[in-house]
Amino acid sequence: MERLKAAQRLNEPIEYLKGVGPAKAELLKKELEIFTKGDLLYHYPFRYIDKSRFYTISEIQSEQFYIRFIGKITQIRLLDLKNRKRLTAIASDSTGQIELVWFQSIQWWQKLLREGAEYIIFGKPSTYLDKFNMVHPELELKSEANIQSRNAFEPVYSSSEKLKSKGLDSKGIYQLQKNLFIELQAEDLPEVLSKSTIEKLSLPSRFDSIKSIHNPKSQEEVDKSVNRIKFEELFFNQLLILRQKSQRKLVSKGYLFKDLGEHFNTFYKEKLPFELTEAQQRVLKEIRKDTLSGRQMNRLLQGDVGSGKTIVALISCLISIDNKFQCCVMAPTEILAQQHFETFTKSLEGLDIKVALLTGNVKGSGRRQILESLNSGNIDILIGTHALIENQVVFKNLGIVVIDEQHRFGVGQRAKLWEKSDVHPHVLVMTATPIPRTLAMTIYGDLDVSVIDTLPPGRKPIITAHRTDSQRGAVFGFIKEEISKGRQVYIVYPLIEESEKLDYKDLMDGYESICKQFPLPQYKIGILHGKMKPSDKEFEMNRFSRGETQIMVSTTVIEVGVNVPNASVMIIESAERFGLSQLHQLRGRVGRGGEQSYCILMTGVKLSSEAKQRIDAMCKTNDGFQLAELDLKLRGPGDIQGTRQSGNVNFHLADLSQDRELLQKAREEVLSILETDPELILPEHKSLLTYVHELSRAGRRWSKIS
Ligand code: ADP
Ligand code: MG
Repeated sequence: MERLKAAQRLNEPIEYLKGVGPAKAELLKKELEIFTKGDLLYHYPFRYIDKSRFYTISEIQSEQFYIRFIGKITQIRLLDLKNRKRLTAIASDSTGQIELVWFQSIQWWQKLLREGAEYIIFGKPSTYLDKFNMVHPELELKSEANIQSRNAFEPVYSSSEKLKSKGLDSKGIYQLQKNLFIELQAEDLPEVLSKSTIEKLSLPSRFDSIKSIHNPKSQEEVDKSVNRIKFEELFFNQLLILRQKSQRKLVSKGYLFKDLGEHFNTFYKEKLPFELTEAQQRVLKEIRKDTLSGRQMNRLLQGDVGSGKTIVALISCLISIDNKFQCCVMAPTEILAQQHFETFTKSLEGLDIKVALLTGNVKGSGRRQILESLNSGNIDILIGTHALIENQVVFKNLGIVVIDEQHRFGVGQRAKLWEKSDVHPHVLVMTATPIPRTLAMTIYGDLDVSVIDTLPPGRKPIITAHRTDSQRGAVFGFIKEEISKGRQVYIVYPLIEESEKLDYKDLMDGYESICKQFPLPQYKIGILHGKMKPSDKEFEMNRFSRGETQIMVSTTVIEVGVNVPNASVMIIESAERFGLSQLHQLRGRVGRGGEQSYCILMTGVKLSSEAKQRIDAMCKTNDGFQLAELDLKLRGPGDIQGTRQSGNVNFHLADLSQDRELLQKAREEVLSILETDPELILPEHKSLLTYVHELSRAGRRWSKIS
């Protein structure tokens, strides 16, 4: 009952808050999506201004945030440069001096500033021509300032130009928050964590924390309160996911793959092209265990590029077939589907297994035939692209679905394959884009995870180097050397949607100049890009794969999965335009055979600092997990492929790229609670259950996904 009332108060429209009114309410809705008092409450400050102390001028460093210092103003000057007016003044104290600059409201400041007077000056230092200055600082005469009554820590809220024009700048929003807290009582924000958790981790109460975040007295208080709210967000994220997982395990029946039969045994004894690595064997054991459990398998297989995931997929299919079930393997591109089809067909030669390929490219009677044999159970393994999830594709008895390079698929597409039979088939999702642990625990948290953490034996680490355009001659020389040793080379150009036309031109220009550098008949060059007909792509890919061309000029269509072990050089043009995971994927196209392989990242001379970090990281490590962690740091979790659709990472304060330890802590706490009370029926867990229901109503869509 109490919770209901509380929820009601926070659900009140924002216009009912003192100081808002209809016009401001309209803007708050439009600009910040603040509809209710609760929405305002969760519009947290993004930083604080430290008004707790005064700096000296000599303490000022360019990287500092907003600070306060006391300075005497001299040399007030108005400069009129190229129609641009500028007002400057020098502020000094006993330790040094700094220039203050205004570009706006110049007349106002001119009237206000008094030469020789002492001010409390507040602003953000920056560097200009190798010296510190402060642009648009706030000033207050020291004699008039009431230093004591100042709030030590002033929160700063994001706002917008429109809101600012209506008086709702950061300070205006701060005032609204204060008004809100005049209305709010502790019971409006009841505790959602259990008493024992709060005590065990000595967390402040929910009400106190939120209140302090909006109106803190010290940095320490901010830290404690933010930490508590972050913990709460992560805790409920984990509770939601882990409960779903355990409930699904209870209810979701899965096919029983009892037998290892003829196909598996023959393949294992006679056809296995190499000895499996320990990691591959371990993953297969895990899959075997899942499919023997009577419950549906829902497993994510992570393995860096070239770690050998395909053979795991193939053997999993054999187990399914031995138990009289069909299999389906879905790949994100035609090229990759085609390649899997060839690998599977070749590996399974001599076994009584029917493999078929279905892509958007298979049409007419060919397509009809495949659909018929699929329905009658004559096809054992169907390999394909998105075409597999169309409604006409009906299996007789689908036992396992393998989804390769899953980061390329939307989440909805995964769900769709599932619905193809009453009892859900086992699902093995494979990805070469290592998912940082924090994401694995949150977004993919209800999947079981297997990792192939060793590469097949005999691989030499790829040597990666960064070269600029001026070094192109040497790079071409290197390519020639490698080709003379019988190796093959990829040269990849970016293709990014917004500038597709320009990119296309770059690719074609590049292709032409490469043709000039590497003339026939000595060198044969292929080209591959998204605008080509699928049959042409296939033709080019096959020529390269058979060694008939030495250089493949391409866009990122070769990014995933393509396997030509003889290719040993990967040149990436305009490498600064690629994201880290994409660079790593592309690099993974080489180093797949026994030869020493190279990846050369070509860029212009000038690089943004972020681009430089990416390039440096690539040169430093081949470890996909390390790169994924860095990627998460550089880009933030919202941008990582595939996560945007998940709708599950909706934190106000928690940040998966920063809060890994806290996430771990939250997870452990959830696990320990679920261990003693899996159904959350104990009285002290009642509030958890209520809140989980509230949250899951908001995230309903997600629960269908995996
Ligand atoms: P990915 O994990 O990137 O899909 P693949 O399955 O394409 O990797 O395997 C990469 C290459 O390594 C292939 O040429 C494959 O035949 C080879 N390979 C896989 N497993 C082993 C192994 N245990 N020993 C030797 N070579 C292997
Ligand atoms: Mg692969």
